Formats: sequence, structure tokens, C-alpha cells
Amino acid sequence: MTSYLKSHPDRDGFFGDYGGAELPPPLVPHFKEIREAYDKISKSAEFIRDLRYIRKHFQGRPTPISYLKNISDACGGAQIYAKREDLNHTGAHKLNHCMAEGLLAKHMGKTKLMAETGAGQHGVALATAAAYFGMECEIHMGEIDIEKEAPNVTRMKLLGATVVPVDFGGRSLKEAVDSAFQAYVPQADHALFAIGSVVGPHPYPMMVRDFQHVVGVEAREQFIDMTGELPDIVTACVGGGSNAMGLFSGFFEDDGIEFYGVEPMGTSSNLGDHAATITYGVDGDIHGFHTLLLKDENGDPAPVHTIASGLDYPGVGPEHAFLHKTGRVNYTSANDKEALDAFYALSRQEGIIPALESAHALAFAMREAPNHPGKSILMNLSGRGDKDIDYVVETFGIGEA
Ligand SMILES: *Cc1c(COP(=O)(O)O)cnc(C)c1O
Repeated sequence: MTSYLKSHPDRDGFFGDYGGAELPPPLVPHFKEIREAYDKISKSAEFIRDLRYIRKHFQGRPTPISYLKNISDACGGAQIYAKREDLNHTGAHKLNHCMAEGLLAKHMGKTKLMAETGAGQHGVALATAAAYFGMECEIHMGEIDIEKEAPNVTRMKLLGATVVPVDFGGRSLKEAVDSAFQAYVPQADHALFAIGSVVGPHPYPMMVRDFQHVVGVEAREQFIDMTGELPDIVTACVGGGSNAMGLFSGFFEDDGIEFYGVEPMGTSSNLGDHAATITYGVDGDIHGFHTLLLKDENGDPAPVHTIASGLDYPGVGPEHAFLHKTGRVNYTSANDKEALDAFYALSRQEGIIPALESAHALAFAMREAPNHPGKSILMNLSGRGDKDIDYVVETFGIGEA
């Protein structure tokens, strides 16, 4: 692990001003247990060996890098490459941290995995891990999302998970987090809470980042192998920020690379129409940590919108807030329309149907490419688009030839 990763966060889980762990008193001892277990177990030879085995023989890692030649030719300028997390088992990067969280739970002697899910992607990945490890799995999901994301609910149930409908408030992701945390308190002795991104109280932002680090480590080696050099620009979409942290962290010890996190600008820059937290957010607290936050007029987390439900969160991982403040990473955005154009382009021109989340990073790469002739851009193709095709085609059609 690199020196940046070793020294961030600090011992209390802070990245500069951001992060920390603001917990209800009953959870304090359990988070201490998780922190200590993570520190000890994740460094043990047995854990590292088990995780390597799982990544190779169950997840299908390493995932390749693909050169997007047709898109690069069409854009003119920089050459665009994609790290293919869509080829990771279950079709997205989320399984990288879910399998590791499951393995940690096993080493801690836990018998159950619990979490919230928004669109159901994290729920499916965690249910997959629970099935693999022979554990129980309880996923909390808003009633609105259950209706919208029926195929993922079916997947979770097929995988053996219990899906708990959340019927209060906005009946969506934020309430699902509240509900899952509440249900976790009396079960914390035998269950592990598995957060779905680099968010939540310490140690989750660090732990999930470290479990996603494999993406960047693989990508760096593969890119050098393929081109003989390092990429000039490295980019990924940012919801909570786990796929971005995974890719970026593989290149943090290298000089001269520009990093771009791409936030969803939705339909407009008006509050409520986007989820561009770093672009428009202010300091605040959500779900037990300090970060940048989109707030409404009462100071509460604001409603957010984006075409990509996996990016639909009014907060962002504390490390991203920190990397923005220090200027190490640039944050920009792509709107619904640009993401859709990129979705169609990658499908038609390269034979890869991307997740709408990942299409935001590609939209940025396609927009920037003409400004960087002779340079290279590496983007994280965080997931495949099968989950999005019905919605896209029913709403926007099959796309122009
Ligand atoms: C959940 C998801 C994201 C957003 O999560 P991050 O933690 O920001 O990476 C991005 N892409 C895909 C395919 C997802 O499923």
C-alpha cells in the first residue's frame, strides 16, 4: 500500500476536516470492534490469500482494460481507454468491497450481512457475497425503489436475502439507511453492516476504498503493459465515490496525472435537479460523518435527481471532499443528456452497453478528448448497462445510428 493510503485517514478517521464517526451510543463499541478487526484481519496472510483466491476464481479478476478505438477516432484528440469493471462478476465494481466485507465478517465470526440499498445494486452484490459465504443477508430498501427496481429485488431474493421494505418518509435510499442502521443495533453482535460506498462513519470510507484499491492497482499495471506509459488523465463517476477511489488510488504515487471525478448534473443546476455534491455542496453531516452535502432551505439533505440511480446521493465520501479541497483531484460534471449520448455511443460504436453511472465518466472523456491531442484518458467503466436498458429504451428510444 502506498504512503498516501497509509497516512489517510488519520487515526480518528478524518481526511483533513472530513470524515469521522458520529454514532448513536449503542453502536460505538461495535464500530470499535469493526475497526480493530479490520486493522488486524485485513493484514493477515490468511485474509489476503483468501481474498486473492476469491477475486481470481469467483469474481473473474483481473478485469481487462479496453482501448476504445472507434470512440477515440470519432472524438479526435486523446485516446480513451476503459477499465472493465462491467466484467467483474455481478456486472459492477461493487462486488469488490462486498466480497471483502463478507470475508471480514467471516473472519470476525459473524453469521449475517446487513445493508441498505437504493437501486438495488449494492443489495445484489451483498446478497451474492452472503450466498458465497453461507451467511444470512438482510437488505433494507425504500418502497418506491422496490417498485422501480423489481428485477434487483427478485435477484436479491433468489440469492437468499431478506428484503425489508421501508415505508416511512420519502421511502427511498436515505430512509433505507436509517432503517437498516436501526435494525442493525440489536443484531450487531452477530451481524456486520456492509456499507455500499466510501461513505458512512469511520472505518467504512477507508475500508471500502482499500477493498476497491485492486481496481487501480490492476489498471496501472495493465495500462503500462498496453501502452508503455502511464495515462495522462484518469477519470471516474462519483456517487458516494467508491469506484473513483479504487481507480484513482492506484495512481496517487505517480506524478503528472490529472484526476477527474465526474458528478451527475441531472437535468439542470437548480437544487433538486442534480446530485453534484462537490460542485454545489456545503460542509455538513449525514449518516454519521462530516462531508460536503447538498442541503435544502432547512439545512437537511436535499432531494437529488440523476438519470443514474446509483449516483443519487446528497452527500459524498469524505475523502473526495478532502481531495477536492487539496486540489489533488478535479471535480466536474456531466448531465443526463451527455450521459445518455455516451451510453448510446459506447453501445453502438464499441459493443459495450455501459451502466448509466459509468456513462457519466465516458461523457466527460468524450467531451475532453478533443482538447488533448496526443494524450490518453483512462476511465472507469464501473458497471454494465443491462439494468438500465428497459428504462432507457422505453423513455428515450433505441438511439440514432
Ligand atoms: C453504485 C454504482 C456507482 C456509484 O457508486 P460509487 O460508490 O460512487 O462508485 C457507479 N457505477 C455503478 C455501475 C454502480 O452500480
